[in-house]
Amino acid sequence: MLIGIPKEIKNNENRVGITPLGVELLVQNGHQVMVQSGGGVGSGFTDEQYQEAGANVEASAEKVWSAEMIIKVKEPLESEYQYFRKDLIIFTYLHLANEPALTTALEESGTIAIGYETMVGEAGDLPLLNPMSVIAGRLSVQIGSQFLESQYGGKGVLIGGVPGVKNGKVVIIGGGVSGRNALQIALGMGAHCTVLDVKPEVLSEIEALYGADVITLMSNEVNIANAIKDADIVVGAVLIPGRKAPTLVTSEMVAGMQPGSVIVDIAVDQGGIFETEDHVTSHDDPVYVKHGVLHYAVPNMPGAVSRTSTIALTNVTLPYAVKIANEGYEAAGKSDMTIMTGFNVYKGKVTNKDVAESLDKEY
Ligand code: NAD
Repeated sequence: MLIGIPKEIKNNENRVGITPLGVELLVQNGHQVMVQSGGGVGSGFTDEQYQEAGANVEASAEKVWSAEMIIKVKEPLESEYQYFRKDLIIFTYLHLANEPALTTALEESGTIAIGYETMVGEAGDLPLLNPMSVIAGRLSVQIGSQFLESQYGGKGVLIGGVPGVKNGKVVIIGGGVSGRNALQIALGMGAHCTVLDVKPEVLSEIEALYGADVITLMSNEVNIANAIKDADIVVGAVLIPGRKAPTLVTSEMVAGMQPGSVIVDIAVDQGGIFETEDHVTSHDDPVYVKHGVLHYAVPNMPGAVSRTSTIALTNVTLPYAVKIANEGYEAAGKSDMTIMTGFNVYKGKVTNKDVAESLDKEY
């Protein structure tokens, strides 16, 4: 199969769909790979490294998009819709529940769109979302702490405190993969931590791991409002797979927080959980202020640590990419349930139930 790896064009998206090592493995499996020139630079991979791995480096995006399968990182942007066609497979993060225009473009073109984020593993996990959630979770507290600094407009609090001065408070809404990784870093920095989730088993697991070091609370309006009132950093880490994120934190609750506090909403890629989020932000201009509270709402956080992210992403996507390339998408989907659950748009129809319901589409 001819596989294309375009350069990512989303703002400050420095990741790339595959590492040179991934190219080498695809080539070993008998496939041809085209990489767009400069595509790997943001992750520290040169064109020469891709060539040595066996790829053809191509200058034009159009040429790369002429491949049979595109492997990338973020959802295609509007300027890329022109490349859609019915004999094209796109294997990437799609997050279609929040992307009506992209979904329509995929339907109308007949492109086969396989989304990393809906692929379900044997244990009911999300193996292709997992590493990015780990990274976003770990980054969220690092970034939140930075924006707490006075020069960024934060309240000037050192999250770990110092002897004689109490430590900062981090509240994490959602105790899944990103939430737990945020927790790990927050605890490591010496913060006072609270985690809210709707699943009692999630709260039990966190309690079993960290005991009295963490306050666990059932996620509901009252507990959220009380927990965030005096928080320094609030991390949104909720996911209902395939669905738009629920609005859990109202504008009134945000208004009740102290000025200079920081919200980091990891779930912004699914629409966000804060009512005060009226737009997504970018790495160039990551924060805006509402009710005196800083809001960080970057949908591609792992792009900030692009090298780590590209390697971590290729580690998990490559086995499936090889399978799709070796067997073809239909056979690969039939023989592998994880690939099957990745089909979001198939021959002109939305084939993921949650995406269809979120966008009011036929399923
Ligand atoms: P996950 O499934 O591991 O965890 C989500 C948790 O949310 C679960 O424990 C679930 O019980 C909990 N939850 C559901 N409804 C809730 C509610 N009402 N209140 C509190 N908790 C609730 O998901 P994850 O892998 O941690 O991903 C979280 C979000 O982060 C997703 O939207 C994902 O796409 C996104 N994400 C964003 C970035 C980024 O760059 N912004 C990067 C990676 C992941």
